[in-house]
Amino acid sequence: MKTIGLIGGMSWESTASYYSAINRGIKEQLGGLHSAKLVLYSVDFAEIETLQHQGEWDKTADILSSAAQSLQAAGADFFLICTNTMHKIAHKVQSSVSIPLLHIADATAEQLVEDGISRVGLLGTKFTMEQDFYKSRLIDSFSISVDIPKPEQATKVHEVIYNELCLGKIQNSSRMAYLKIIDDLQMHGSQAVILGCTEIALLVKQADTNVPLYDTTEIHAKAAVRFALS
Ligand code: GLU
Repeated sequence: MKTIGLIGGMSWESTASYYSAINRGIKEQLGGLHSAKLVLYSVDFAEIETLQHQGEWDKTADILSSAAQSLQAAGADFFLICTNTMHKIAHKVQSSVSIPLLHIADATAEQLVEDGISRVGLLGTKFTMEQDFYKSRLIDSFSISVDIPKPEQATKVHEVIYNELCLGKIQNSSRMAYLKIIDDLQMHGSQAVILGCTEIALLVKQADTNVPLYDTTEIHAKAAVRFALS
């Protein structure tokens, strides 16, 4: 089994989901007392969040690159960045180490393609929904069309992530708001919706809606398990 490296803490609420999903996955595959060989480097999210909103992405890349180097030195064979948003600087982090990065958008897109989905809605931070780094990967490399919510809905999605989910607050009113946004995306033609922020599945579950949901945390964790055992 390969040793998995995780850059987590963005937020730690979702890193906890990664840790259980990966260990669950290894146990399902190998049975008994098996668990994942894993190294976690967890950053201080307050520092990252401040830099994100100041547009200081190069500084975030320095922090995450140094985390990736620590994972490599600790024996990780490959690594994951446990957030969609921070894949904005994934190429810089990848270039700072020789172990491979398992990209969250690739893992998600591969699952969508396998399920025959060619048009999808995307929920995430405004960075993920509105900038190009994530969407272009789905569009250019996988020919998947991407819809995002209307501006005021995008603002709501973004604010719930930073002001509630990353702080561990799960509120029914926010769940209702998200479900309405998911329905609107489907009404406008999305065949499915990507939960493109690693905390969203803490709020919205597949059982809450008939619209097929693609939880990036679960998909990314499964991809890590497959790669670790390959
Ligand atoms: N975990 C979130 C994501 O997947 C948001 C936190 C962050 O900005 O990294 O995008």
